[in-house]
Amino acid sequence: MILFKDPALISYYLDSHRTQNTSIGFVPTMGALHPGHISLLEQSKKEAYITVCSIFVNPTQFNDRKDYEKYPVTIEEDIQKIEAVGTDILFLPDVSALYENGTHNLEHYDIGYLETVLEGEFRPGHFQGVCQVMYRLLKTVKPAKLFMGQKDYQQSLVIQQLLNTMKINTDLIVCPTFREKNGLAMSSRNTRLSEKEREAAGSIYQALIFIKDNMRPGSLTSIKEDAKKILTGKGFRIDYIEIADADTLGLTDSWDGQQRLVALAAVFVRDVRLIDNLIVSCEL
Ligand code: AMP
Repeated sequence: MILFKDPALISYYLDSHRTQNTSIGFVPTMGALHPGHISLLEQSKKEAYITVCSIFVNPTQFNDRKDYEKYPVTIEEDIQKIEAVGTDILFLPDVSALYENGTHNLEHYDIGYLETVLEGEFRPGHFQGVCQVMYRLLKTVKPAKLFMGQKDYQQSLVIQQLLNTMKINTDLIVCPTFREKNGLAMSSRNTRLSEKEREAAGSIYQALIFIKDNMRPGSLTSIKEDAKKILTGKGFRIDYIEIADADTLGLTDSWDGQQRLVALAAVFVRDVRLIDNLIVSCEL
């Protein structure tokens, strides 16, 4: 595995190895890697000739300074894990390498509706930061394929929009969510939970499964309320638990039995904010 810190050097290297038969697969991460991240690298290994992983804790996407400061960093273990899976290149830039002119007064992306709803509403500025870093990473790596997790459902819609509006010639491949045995979606933030909290946090998935199991055409108001009770019953604070159109994320309180719907939740377990989602509609 080759490690690059300098965007100009990795860009030069990849430009000189990119041909029609040597497609580049890219897995951007913030490190503290777990099997969910590794599954993205494995998918890239299957589909691309050169697999690039980046590890960069992006300061501009944290609307909460404390969350940024507490974000877990396990770089030695991360390097071992990505090497073990056969990753070809690790990109490990410093903040100043990606944000040459600092992290203030950055460009603005028109994300439209997606920036006003769910994560957009509860984490103001978050998706601007995601676009700012992803644009820089994509311009540097220029991958044929970009592998991201369904775990961050809204993020994948935002990135698809970024690819479209910036006319970036990269295919986005959204990979399934990897879960713990109790259903808890794997997340770097889970390392901040105690054993007991991790066990209890499995109820986030239970609440989503509850919605899926109880989907009937008509009003969805009472299923949403009952799903909330599963979480408040564990003492968790809820930012949202909502049901939305799977393509547009338009929120809905009813189902016609046909529309593809996704349930999405953001929940605090103590002060650790966790998100998860599940496609809940199936054809009747
Ligand atoms: P992060 O390091 O949290 O920014 O995540 C990097 C990538 O890994 C993103 O595309 C995430 O959606 C994806 N990811 C995070 N957790 C999981 C998971 N449990 N299963 C699959 N992909 C994941």
